[in-house]
Amino acid sequence: MRATDEKRQNPEYFSPVYEMALKQFNRAAEKLELDPNLIERIKTPDRCLVVSLPVLMDDGKVRTFHGYRVQHNDALGPGKGGIRYHPNVNLGEVAALAMWMTWKGGLMGIPLGGAKGGVACDPKKLSEHELERLTRRYTHAISPLIGPEIDVPAPDVGTNAQTMAWIMDTYCMQTGFHTTGVVTGKPPIMGGSLGREEATGMGVVFTIQEAAKKINLSIEGATVAVQGFGNVGYQSARILQQKGAKVVAVSNSMGGVYNKNGLRVQALRKYAEGNRDLANFPGAEKITNQELLALECDILIPAALENQVTRENADKVKCKIYAEGANGPTTPDADEILTNKGIFMIPDILCNSGGVVVSYFEWVQDLQNFFWEVDEINRRMENIIKRAFLDTCDLEIQRKVGMRTAALMLGVKRVAEGMRVRGLYP
Ligand code: GLU
Repeated sequence: MRATDEKRQNPEYFSPVYEMALKQFNRAAEKLELDPNLIERIKTPDRCLVVSLPVLMDDGKVRTFHGYRVQHNDALGPGKGGIRYHPNVNLGEVAALAMWMTWKGGLMGIPLGGAKGGVACDPKKLSEHELERLTRRYTHAISPLIGPEIDVPAPDVGTNAQTMAWIMDTYCMQTGFHTTGVVTGKPPIMGGSLGREEATGMGVVFTIQEAAKKINLSIEGATVAVQGFGNVGYQSARILQQKGAKVVAVSNSMGGVYNKNGLRVQALRKYAEGNRDLANFPGAEKITNQELLALECDILIPAALENQVTRENADKVKCKIYAEGANGPTTPDADEILTNKGIFMIPDILCNSGGVVVSYFEWVQDLQNFFWEVDEINRRMENIIKRAFLDTCDLEIQRKVGMRTAALMLGVKRVAEGMRVRGLYP
């Protein structure tokens, strides 16, 4: 179906990001020769909730925010996916991110479905108290639709372990039950899993190590550029540096810094806590986000938002390995350009899946009230991600569809199989 027809059918959540997710899905569905009845069912979200959130601000005024929770598909298990706090959050974006979570869970072979949530707000401009009140009100608003057996939120852009602790507390206060398994990515003292904070970055690095083996690149001495310095960007940069790579450039939404001899990642993180703009970090040159994406380097990690590498700038990308720490950073046109340039692409649902894999472990630990050692968590995550990586490479070699479509085909196929055996209710 053409994008314009799809827009007419589903105007509620139609947006550039949703259109992108649909295009990627359509290509995978076509290669899989999926049953058209199933295609229709699978490509629209199961359930979308739009909520209005009045919040008392510190100045005594009441501001009303808009929040969302979308459950895309629960064939394989309860909904799973993060909550995003960002000014550009809208229903279409959340629906696309929820769909990607479904394929990610399928590709990883974990018993969870796909969901996502978000609130349109700028968390950097809210005080700690305002953030807490907003989070508690949002939790109250979505509470009929979440729970360990229904849908389990987690951190995403603009949210963190503290946000998850507030969600858990609000949910427990309302239900009267101590239910740690309602969210993942919590602080370890409150049922959070060891290793969850660094899990996404660690998973990114596992996939980069596998890709490096394929193209005979040594991580020791490899040059790395990272777009985005939130949890995923920072952890990926830190772990790669620990393994001997040279992190030459890092950026955030204001711009970035460059040093051809390598940046001190941990010192930069400390600096970023007090300075939103990284430009004056000592011993580094200022660089724009566009310049960073066009840097000559071995490994480029887009770890910020969607739609960063497009038809306009894809041709300028000069890395050997392109590792998508973010969800949806590359448009379908840009995908083709990067692949034709011979760049080794590690698609988002494979590259950044470490987060949801360890979230799965956290959920399991919470349900059992029995907690694992960090080594066991990392070892199990590595096994799952490596298997998915090798399966994706094998399918890509067999079908010559590119790494993104190969990864999507594996994820979509598993979800489709789950839907087929469950059948259609009633
Ligand atoms: N927000 C993360 C993602 O996009 C993590 C989701 C989760 O842990 O449930 O994969």
